[in-house]
Amino acid sequence: MIAVNHLTYRYGTITALRDISLQAASGEMIGLIGPNGSGKSTLLACLAGLRINFSGRIMIGGKDISRYNSQALARVISVVFQDNFFPFDFTAYEIVAMGRSPFLKALQDETARDHKIIEEAMRQSDCCQLKERSITELSGGERQRVILARSLAQQPKVLLMDEPTNHLDLKHQRLILDTARRLSSQSGVLVIAVLHDLNLAASFCDRIILLHQGAINADSRPNEVLKEAVLKPVYETDIDIVLHPRTNRPQILI
Ligand code: ADP
Repeated sequence: MIAVNHLTYRYGTITALRDISLQAASGEMIGLIGPNGSGKSTLLACLAGLRINFSGRIMIGGKDISRYNSQALARVISVVFQDNFFPFDFTAYEIVAMGRSPFLKALQDETARDHKIIEEAMRQSDCCQLKERSITELSGGERQRVILARSLAQQPKVLLMDEPTNHLDLKHQRLILDTARRLSSQSGVLVIAVLHDLNLAASFCDRIILLHQGAINADSRPNEVLKEAVLKPVYETDIDIVLHPRTNRPQILI
């Protein structure tokens, strides 16, 4: 679904991504981890078509990303960013309905099918009860769930998420990551999520990509990446690793 070859991205004199190559298939749930400033958000932005002056090549669904216009790309890729800013007083429902706009012609209203998709997206991210509330008055966690619902309403083939569990309580961290995992395993969506919490990455992802100083340091199963010998030099701190008593996946203690 995604093939990245020798991707390098610079902000002026700062090289944020260095010679990144990776392939990601439909149905994968990938955790993107790495210390602050290691290039995670920049990589996500390049994959989302939001940073275009890179060197190297990004192919989405077999087609060079530069050959998509923004509406065509939005029919394939949806992005959940953190810290969304809404200057206008939209209701939560109106925000989620925006997820259908790549599929509508100019000035066309949503169909009954679109409304059904919107309702289902809100149900999946547990925000039906927020429907009529203004987005500007929601808490950070409530807003995050509405933003996720908008992405679900887009029915993307690729779902990119930048710290989707930020602001969320335990119940909603699990709900969002369970929903993402179900989308990947049952609907074949490729999910790539930047996760600060390595334990969530270990629990919910089957593949972890570790970035360090803009380059891929490790790309493998959680048990191969979340090892002291791999993490300690990258995060520059002492850690202990234990196995989760139920899932046997690695969990990091600091
Ligand atoms: P991460 O998401 O892993 O924290 P980023 O992709 O945000 O990393 O940043 C990677 C590098 O690029 C960092 O050195 C950061 O300071 C730099 N950077 C990010 N955004 C900008 C920007 N808009 N202008 C200049 N440098 C930037």
